[in-house]
Amino acid sequence: MKTMITNVRVLTMNGENKVYEDGCVLVDGSRIARVGSRQEAESWNPGPDVRILDGGGGILLPGLVNTHCHVSMMPFRTLGDDCADRLRRFLFPLENDAMTRTLVYRAAKYGICEMLLAGITTFVDMYYFEDEVAKACEELGIRGFLGETVIGQPTCDSPEPYGGLEYGERFINEWKGNRLVTPVVAPHATYSLSPEMLKRSFELAEKYDVPYTIHVCEMEHEMEKFRTEYGKTPVEVMADLGILDRRTLAAHCVYMEEKAMELFARHGVSVAHCIGSNTKGGRGVAPIPAMEKLGIAAGFGTDGASSGNTLDLFTLFKLFANFQKTEHHDRTLFPACDIVKMGTMGGARAIGMERELGSIEEGKKADLVIVETDSVNMFPCYNPYSALVYSANASNVDTVMVDGEVLVRGKRLLRDSLEGIREELEMEMGPFMKAAENYGEMI
Ligand SMILES: [Zn+2]
Repeated sequence: MKTMITNVRVLTMNGENKVYEDGCVLVDGSRIARVGSRQEAESWNPGPDVRILDGGGGILLPGLVNTHCHVSMMPFRTLGDDCADRLRRFLFPLENDAMTRTLVYRAAKYGICEMLLAGITTFVDMYYFEDEVAKACEELGIRGFLGETVIGQPTCDSPEPYGGLEYGERFINEWKGNRLVTPVVAPHATYSLSPEMLKRSFELAEKYDVPYTIHVCEMEHEMEKFRTEYGKTPVEVMADLGILDRRTLAAHCVYMEEKAMELFARHGVSVAHCIGSNTKGGRGVAPIPAMEKLGIAAGFGTDGASSGNTLDLFTLFKLFANFQKTEHHDRTLFPACDIVKMGTMGGARAIGMERELGSIEEGKKADLVIVETDSVNMFPCYNPYSALVYSANASNVDTVMVDGEVLVRGKRLLRDSLEGIREELEMEMGPFMKAAENYGEMI
């Protein structure tokens, strides 16, 4: 099946950031076959069976990549947003009380809808019952890099600490080689596993040659623990353990000293930058300019709906621009084009998929997004990058294609109904909401 996308401003995000003001993209099956101007497209001869997809004069960009999420935490949204030490006092216990296999599945479906409708075509996830998240990805058609959490305490899907290691191995065996789902090993954080188990989870990632993602340098108590127990930073301890590698995707990285950044650069570690959840938690602004200078790949991460609240990158684009510019007192830092680049190619590099995803180039996967420019907030639009970063929000996303299949058109999901998915989630949330009441003083 061939699809010709016409009447769009194409932001290719290739090496030169080539833009076609009146461009066309030909998709053949799951891949991009041709990219060019309307004039160039006249000589493409795609054949009689080509489907024409009119972009309505909107902006066509590569699918957005969300490099850090806990998609099934949807039921937690707006619970305890302003509560101190929330993770340990509230999130972990409530998760163990009330998170179930079915709730993970239904929440994942709902969260994936939110991401697709916001132009996210690939996401990295860390949670429990991760096979349910994988099922949801297949049903809705999004690309997922999914990791079962490994942590040194009992969880909702494993009564024994570190049960996630075995669960994770089963999950990898079950899903490796899937068209949309890539299994990942996901040790929770530097502070919530023993050094030995950090290493063992890394060995699991090596054994199956899959990515390894973990929360790093996110918490003050984490930095303090490593200072007092080892006299080192978490990243130095990770280096000692031999778990810094091209496959390592470190989420957050707020508290990064020079040496830690050098270690990341030397070992090819990439970063999931979660500006929304980090600043909402009052933690700080990760030193992305310094990391970029060292060549460290970085993409955006929404984090879960309990930490970042919305699962879209448009919110993060603005937060990122405003916080980084303010932090460094420099309006010229990160022009809008660089921010869109980080949301597309940056994310693709962070997950080692830069040859397949992240830009609109011939031969790459057809993961594409059209943002309309007809809405009240989108006019005028002199600079399309500025419009995406500073004017747009998720509701301007009109059309989304993943792997050559149109999943969103006219701002509506095509494969399933959002209303139905929401209803199913709501029905499943009863016991969870009841359990949340036990934490009344925190919510
Ligand atoms: Zn997280």
